[in-house]
Amino acid sequence: MSRLVVVSNRIADPRQTAAGGLAVALAEVLNNTGGLWFGWSGKIVDDAEGDDVHMLQAGPVKLATVDLSHVDHDAFYLGYSNGVLWPVFHYRVDLADFDAGYINGYRRVNQLFARKLLPLLRPDDVIWVHDYHLIPLAAELRALGCTQQIGFFLHIPLPPPLMLAAIPGHDWLMRALFAYDLVGFQSQSDVDHFTKYVETEAHAQPLDGQRWRAFGRTVRAGAFPIGIDVDEFTGLTYASEAVEMYERMKREYSRRKLLVGVDRLDYSKGLPQRMRAFREFLTRHPELRSSATLIQIASPSRENVSAYTDLLRELETLCGSINGNFGELDWMPVRYIHRTVPRARLPGLYRASRVALVTPLRDGMNLVAKEFLAAQDEADPGVLVLSRFAGAAEQLKEALLVNPYDTEGTAAAIQLALQMPLEERRDRHQAMMRTVRQYDVHWWCESFLAALAEAQPEEKGTSWL
Ligand code: ADP
Repeated sequence: MSRLVVVSNRIADPRQTAAGGLAVALAEVLNNTGGLWFGWSGKIVDDAEGDDVHMLQAGPVKLATVDLSHVDHDAFYLGYSNGVLWPVFHYRVDLADFDAGYINGYRRVNQLFARKLLPLLRPDDVIWVHDYHLIPLAAELRALGCTQQIGFFLHIPLPPPLMLAAIPGHDWLMRALFAYDLVGFQSQSDVDHFTKYVETEAHAQPLDGQRWRAFGRTVRAGAFPIGIDVDEFTGLTYASEAVEMYERMKREYSRRKLLVGVDRLDYSKGLPQRMRAFREFLTRHPELRSSATLIQIASPSRENVSAYTDLLRELETLCGSINGNFGELDWMPVRYIHRTVPRARLPGLYRASRVALVTPLRDGMNLVAKEFLAAQDEADPGVLVLSRFAGAAEQLKEALLVNPYDTEGTAAAIQLALQMPLEERRDRHQAMMRTVRQYDVHWWCESFLAALAEAQPEEKGTSWL
């Protein structure tokens, strides 16, 4: 079995129990193959220093990290990755900041990663690169002579070709995908956008419905929807911290149904739209008003990117006005918490909630939807209200699917969810759990790596660069 090398912007120490399902799944494969995980250390240093590789042994796994200089961090991380690619890939061209200097920083850091990773590689390694920060990494590695199998997985959505074309340098970016042997996406709609882009903009030749040829190379593309580690999450659900949380919530809300939202505070998550839909529900159903409370947990995220500060203010204003207008002396409709909830408690909150509102405007997958389902009591499960624009909607057809831009439609779904009879709740939950179990994070890992192993590196030259 070849050694697996995982490359991602941030790495997680697989020995830490707080690590999420993804880290756990990757750690498992890395453990089995005595693998290497390479990424940014999370440290920002003065320009002159940032060139060493820090090595750490975590059981059988090697962790290798590099620091970033202030200039590189600003241009690569805040600038191109999160100021250009994140908004455009989430269909928010209006929020993108196309500063000409960003792309150079993005390329510089990808070159740095390639330069530092190359000497650590063995000839039969299989390399798996993750996410939008590192799209050109394989191209940079190949330019240095790397011939190993390299796969790429995009955790966020890929927008339609004309939206991609709004990015200065999009042709360079998309061409770089042909340096990989396999490119994986979260959903079929992402694959369709890739196909359309490469066929129309790059004049790629479709080979067999799975592979495309351009720039003298062949790349395979497919959908590999990411899942959760169901057993790990069920374990957390019935461990003491989550059970305590569950019991506390059940006591506190014994006369009320709980609706829950758990998100990073990000404009892709549709939080203001969700609040407006909840306000619409309260307006339309005075009879149900004090029977439900919405707990919205929004963890701080990328606070040094300006679009996030505006969002924070908008959300706080909306929550304040809903509570001001609808609250009673003994009941507040919204509990808004701008903090991260410890991972060990989260399943208790999900389990105590009758409804989850997972209503992003655009999301690669959305794991909160799957975690909510896994934490429910099978005999009396809650209801998932899910945006049709989350990647998860391709798989979870039995959720109450909504268009988050449609305030009235989403308000109607909230009402339906709160009043859904037990039998229907059970049927829907059971059907969705079959999918969540079948397509869990282990399936994701194994099926991606199996597809990568099959994708032969026929062309090893660098001429296409
Ligand atoms: P994204 O990767 O865009 O943040 P996902 O829903 O795919 O969205 O994954 C989010 C992960 O982070 C989930 O595992 C979820 O449990 C966790 N998470 C999200 N928001 C919070 C929060 N406010 N507090 C604690 N954990 C959170």
